[in-house]
Amino acid sequence: MTTPFQMLTLGVGDAFSDRYYHTSFVLMAEGMHLLIDCPEPIRKILREASEASGRRVNLKDIDDVVLTHLHADHASAWETICHWKRHRQPARPRLYTSPEVLDVIWDQRLRAVMGETINLETGEVTPNSPSDYFEGHALSYGQETAIGPFHVSIRRTKHVIPTVGLIVRVGDMRWGYACDTIFDPEHIKWLSQADMIVHETNDGPHTPLEDLMGLPQEIRDKIWLVHYPDSLDPNDAPLNCLRQGQLLTLTKEPPGAVVAR
Ligand SMILES: [Zn+2]
Repeated sequence: MTTPFQMLTLGVGDAFSDRYYHTSFVLMAEGMHLLIDCPEPIRKILREASEASGRRVNLKDIDDVVLTHLHADHASAWETICHWKRHRQPARPRLYTSPEVLDVIWDQRLRAVMGETINLETGEVTPNSPSDYFEGHALSYGQETAIGPFHVSIRRTKHVIPTVGLIVRVGDMRWGYACDTIFDPEHIKWLSQADMIVHETNDGPHTPLEDLMGLPQEIRDKIWLVHYPDSLDPNDAPLNCLRQGQLLTLTKEPPGAVVAR
């Protein structure tokens, strides 16, 4: 294909990691950047991934963010992104997320810190609305949403709050992201249409590595692990592990190859 579809891995850790940043990615195609989840400290995370990969990505390059769910290890930097864009560019980022998240993100998560602004000279309080900070777009179940060259599909995962997995298509290349979920064969069946499957593994309400090891070889060959526990040695894991700062190009060339490093 003529358009390189690249993925920069920003972090690979779980919510409690003291070794890695939380799991998030930047997808790149046709000069456009799509941020997949946004944990803090997002600007430091971007700088360090840029230095590790040699591919510079700054927050000012990113206008579009896909949010899978509202747990802090996936969503904590959304407030920072809105404030940074408003005061440093200025620009209004576009948020793409599930209808469930879009329904509550302002009233139940952002309003306390973004709902009004106090004028420090007059004491006057000015109310703000979501559109003062960002453009919100609901992704749709069963239908792709086009974000520039990226075509995004979502599917509900089995997680403790409303959460979606993703398939992002650029041309005929598909990048799949399980996101937070217990082991769910139906979810893996949906993800198996992708050329590359980024899958979580962890203890608790997550996917045990042993369950992924029980999948057919052709699926295991496409899986790259993230959200793995600090105790998992990525050099000694039975499946590919993504690394923080790793830049991959998704390609079908040469024939037979799916992902080139
Ligand atoms: Zn979660």
